[in-house]
Amino acid sequence: MAAPRPPSIGVFALQGDVREHLQTLAVLGADAFPVRRPAELERCDGLVLPGGESTTMAKLARTFELLEPLRKRVAEGMPTFGTCAGMILLADQIEDGAAGQETVGGLDVTVRRNAFGRQVDSFEADLAFRGLGEPVHAVFIRAPWVERTGPEVEVLAETEGHPVAVRQGHLLATSFHPEVDGDGRVHRLFLELVQG
Ligand code: GLN
Repeated sequence: MAAPRPPSIGVFALQGDVREHLQTLAVLGADAFPVRRPAELERCDGLVLPGGESTTMAKLARTFELLEPLRKRVAEGMPTFGTCAGMILLADQIEDGAAGQETVGGLDVTVRRNAFGRQVDSFEADLAFRGLGEPVHAVFIRAPWVERTGPEVEVLAETEGHPVAVRQGHLLATSFHPEVDGDGRVHRLFLELVQG
C-alpha cells in the first residue's frame, strides 16, 4: 500500500515570520510551502497565517489579489491556523485596529490588538492548553487577546483571564507564537484538524 500523501500546508508569505512556521511544519512531516499568489493557495489542504503586522498583511493581501480568495477558501472550510497577527486576520472583529483595517474573517471573535499594553512588548508563559497535557510554552510579542467569543468558539488557553487560544471548527488561532520556541504540539494539533 502506498504511504498516505503528506498534507499540503501553505504559509501566507507576503509578510511575517514565515520561515519558522515552514520549519515547524516540515519537521512534523507536512509538505509546507509559502503562499504568495492565488495558484499557491489553491494547492493548500490547510493554511497558516503567521505573526507579523496584521495591517500590512491585510494591505498586501489586497494588493496581491489574495484577500478575496483567502476569504472564499476560509469560508468554504479550509483548515486555517492564525498566530498573533494571523489571529487578528482570522477575527470577524477588531478592537484598536487601524482605521479601515480589513480582515479575512471567519472566526466569530473580537480581538483586541496589542492588548497586553505597549509597555509589556513581549513576555513568555507556560499555559495549560486544552487537550495537550503538559503546559505549552507561549511567546507573546505585541499580542492580541480575545475579547469576545461567539457561541461556536471553544477556548483552549487563557492568560490573565483572557482567551489566547481558540478553535471554531476548522479554524485555530493563538495570540502567541508556537512557531517560536515551541515543541510542535500546537502545529500537530492543527495537522490533525487538517487530516480530519
Ligand atoms: N501587533 C501586531 C499586529 O497588530 C501583531 C504582532 C505579532 O504578530 N507578533 O498585527
